[in-house]
Amino acid sequence: MANIIRKIKWFIIEHRVTYVIMLFLLLSIAFISLTPAYVLGFAIDTVISGKLNESTLVMIVGALVLLPVSRYALSFVYNYLSNKTAQTLTFQLRKRYLSHLFEMDSKFFELYDKGDLISRVTADLDSITQAASSIMEGIIFNVGVILFAIGVMGFSISWELTIISVTIMPIGLTILNIIRSKKRKYVKIHREIYAEMTEKVLESVEGQKTIRAYVQEENDLDKLKDAIDADIESWRYIVRYESWFNPLFEVVYGIAYVLAFVFGVYFILESKMSLGQLITFVSYVGMLYGPIIAISTIFTQINNATISIDRYDEIMTQVPEVHDDLTSKDIIDFKQIRFENVTFLYPFDKQPVIKDITFEINNGQTIGIVGPTGSGKSTLIRQLLREFNVTQGQIYIDNQRIDSYKIEDIRNLVGYVPQTHILFKRGVDENILIGKPNANVDMINKAIKIADFEKDLLFLQQGLHTMVGESGTTLSGGQKQRLSIARALIKEPEILILDDSLSAVDAKTEDTIIGHLIDFRKGKTNIIVAHRFSAVRDADVILVIENGQITQKGTHEELLKQDGWYKHQYIQQMTMK
Ligand code: ADP
Ligand code: MG
Repeated sequence: MANIIRKIKWFIIEHRVTYVIMLFLLLSIAFISLTPAYVLGFAIDTVISGKLNESTLVMIVGALVLLPVSRYALSFVYNYLSNKTAQTLTFQLRKRYLSHLFEMDSKFFELYDKGDLISRVTADLDSITQAASSIMEGIIFNVGVILFAIGVMGFSISWELTIISVTIMPIGLTILNIIRSKKRKYVKIHREIYAEMTEKVLESVEGQKTIRAYVQEENDLDKLKDAIDADIESWRYIVRYESWFNPLFEVVYGIAYVLAFVFGVYFILESKMSLGQLITFVSYVGMLYGPIIAISTIFTQINNATISIDRYDEIMTQVPEVHDDLTSKDIIDFKQIRFENVTFLYPFDKQPVIKDITFEINNGQTIGIVGPTGSGKSTLIRQLLREFNVTQGQIYIDNQRIDSYKIEDIRNLVGYVPQTHILFKRGVDENILIGKPNANVDMINKAIKIADFEKDLLFLQQGLHTMVGESGTTLSGGQKQRLSIARALIKEPEILILDDSLSAVDAKTEDTIIGHLIDFRKGKTNIIVAHRFSAVRDADVILVIENGQITQKGTHEELLKQDGWYKHQYIQQMTMK
């Protein structure tokens, strides 16, 4: 419990006034809920003693009407405040979590599944905020009721009867709590199974087209079914412990009632107590039942939340390997980027993907990169996005290590068009504006022109405002590529990287785009990874990457004179035409 309070201390302090008001409301509600039974006892004694007159009757009836009304009003205010703070807390915790995810590097995302990350910010987060509300509401209100009730029972009715009937309750409760604490370990297992199931469902939803195309619905459903069954199975263990709880406690409670009644009647016969008092007393015994169970449930809930807090915190305390520090410098411009003996190994791989790579890019140059699929071209140029730290060697920008600069500055320098296009479920224009949110219409039009997307607009029903489906399903592969290029171009980046971004466009369109780049990006740096040699023919330098290493380097003409991969592939491409 202390754990949860510590974690949300900042929030409680921020909203302290509301919390104090809620505290008073809860105590008042607890107190009011006990008064009717007292009034009833008083009424009965008054009737029996024959002292009932008109004014007492009005008072009694008045109290019995007013009490529930005021309880209702206070509860209304309390519920409003409580829901509002719970919502705000959820919102803020979620916001913190998401902004933390944005700070994480690629290694982090290789370590955690999407489903897992989502379940931590949904199921786990809900259980944290629920526990936070329960601590307040459940504990304050129920402890309030128990204390007020025992106070009235012990001090104004009979302390002997109170001891006789109430002491049995904590004993029963302790036994039951021991059983419940065993449940905790199953809750943790259940959380993990649940996360796995979420991941599988996510995968099926995302991959539904591929699944259907390969007629794998049955197979996929079977896998999902297994995951769901595992989820249900693990839940069953938890329910089994739960179901021990209520019946056992009811037995204990029944005994408390019998004791109160038997001894109460005895005390009446001994004239130690009135009938009205016994009725009030027995009502109070009944009223203790709810709060005692509630408190025990709250502790279970809090225990579950402790697991959730740990899961939430595990993410929140991750520090990305790629991060800025106080000494990180700005980049205003750059003159040269130099790769020096760079070797890179993906975090969970054994073999490096790029090995001992040395080359340089001067500002204003166009670099072409070619090589077989899987040779490491994308991995090489993505080093400029600072997704990972290099494993060996170093990349220098103007003779300073790349990791001495602010990450954001480096990413701002680069306009990267990836091999697989990520389009958002928004309009065409909005997708382009991600590159530069404050760009005006002229800028959009210019980017579209360079990317040769102009001709496609004619076929789109609502032109620039046409909605692009999730992952860009309404556009053809080539259109998606050109849209992505326009997004990078609108940023007018110092360095434009086309990572195999022309693979889905025809040769003529490719020629147009390359021609536009030569015209519009004069003096800027371009890195073009391509399959077709026509795309890199005009580059200042072409690198041939084979098996993670640079095997050839030179201009188109120079490379054609060498006997190597470039020449062989070039001849093959020419003869295929
Ligand atoms: P290219 O762009 O030349 O086709 P890539 O750089 O995409 O090559 O891939 C080079 C190698 O690195 C491939 O063997 C690929 O399987 C591996 N690879 C790519 N991305 C990852 C990753 N995130 N984790 C582990 N291995 C990867
Ligand atoms: Mg690639």
